[in-house]
Amino acid sequence: MDSYLSLTPMNPSTFSRRKFVRGATFSVIGFPYVSLLTSAACAAEDEARKLGFALVGLGGLSTGQLAPALQKTKYCRLAAIVTGTPSKIPVWKDRYKISDKNVYNYDTMEQMADNPDIDVVYVVTPNALHAEHTLKAAKAGKHVLCEKPMDVSVKKCQQMIDALKKADRMLAIGYRCQFDPNHLECRRLATEKVFGELKVIEGGFSRPITANEWRVKKELAGGGPLMDVGIYALQTCRFTSAREPVEVTARFGPVTEPDKFKEVEQSVEWEMTFPGGLKTKCRTNYERGGDNAFTVTAEHGTFGLNPAYNYNFARGTRSDGVSINLPSVNQFAAEMDDFAQCIMNKKTSKVSGEEGLRDVTIMMAIYESARSGKPVKLA
Ligand code: NAD
Repeated sequence: MDSYLSLTPMNPSTFSRRKFVRGATFSVIGFPYVSLLTSAACAAEDEARKLGFALVGLGGLSTGQLAPALQKTKYCRLAAIVTGTPSKIPVWKDRYKISDKNVYNYDTMEQMADNPDIDVVYVVTPNALHAEHTLKAAKAGKHVLCEKPMDVSVKKCQQMIDALKKADRMLAIGYRCQFDPNHLECRRLATEKVFGELKVIEGGFSRPITANEWRVKKELAGGGPLMDVGIYALQTCRFTSAREPVEVTARFGPVTEPDKFKEVEQSVEWEMTFPGGLKTKCRTNYERGGDNAFTVTAEHGTFGLNPAYNYNFARGTRSDGVSINLPSVNQFAAEMDDFAQCIMNKKTSKVSGEEGLRDVTIMMAIYESARSGKPVKLA
């Protein structure tokens, strides 16, 4: 049986044991020592009920965001690591108290099948390796949370969906902004038509990169800034409007650093047409000082976020003077807790594999249009 099933809140034996331990805490009020022991037992039991996550790829995102976020989650814990760099192992073992049996490399990942401590594999490797690592996790019988973009081709994304389905496990994609209250507020303003019918969504996301990153290699990245950060602007258009584009037109920008951008684009702009007359205009590049914002124009006003895509922080304004300023959350912790709850309650994630596949399909159409100079229809 899966370890997560035995940890489900519905599991009667777990539930009655927890009730008993908590009851014992009440009956000994006035006996601080016993009370301390029982609350320690409760804390240990709460910890054991969390789903065990294995981080695959210990680079910038895992180190700077995901491992720290896993210390803040309610339903998840960092149980294991997968790395191809042996020098990282002692540092991670020491910092996060990871036992030897929970350390893997990319070739031994499938042995996770014998490790009930791991429920979810979080794939955080370069884009074009996502399918390979997801397929290994599925073979080991684990649920998979995979970073964006899902992978670099429609075919590989479909293979990921099929593999998880065959393994009877769940798949979700790391769209952190879908868990941010300020992004959710923009979706509410759009879908409840607070400013009337949507007319235009305009925005972008950009960042600088160095010349020696995997991000400039087509084989590992699949593409340039579109696959890396432009995907956020694309997601905003789909998520905020809750609609799907029917046509896309795109063009590549000029290459001002030819030594760096030999294999992937330096910049791209694209327009999408949505049902109901909504048009969107997006851009992305790998340059310093680019966009990190979006504006929605509706019949009777505008709203949007700026900054929109910082880790764990977004703020915005509305044309009626009201701020969009809901308290920030740790987006990664919220995303992982949501997936854990989906697994526990057997509910499909809102950031499912199908959602990831949709973005990759549209990005392929954007590239096709930029190459051909013609609009591309989306089914
Ligand atoms: P990174 O370069 O910092 O880390 C990549 C990791 O993959 C490294 O530990 C590296 O050793 C490992 N790796 C394994 N095989 C490799 C190979 N053949 N070549 C190069 N590295 C290899 O990258 P990152 O910024 O952590 O990005 C990892 C993934 O996370 C990407 O898919 C990226 O799009 C995504 N990401 C998402 C967010 C977000 O906000 N959701 C932010 C950053 C990155």
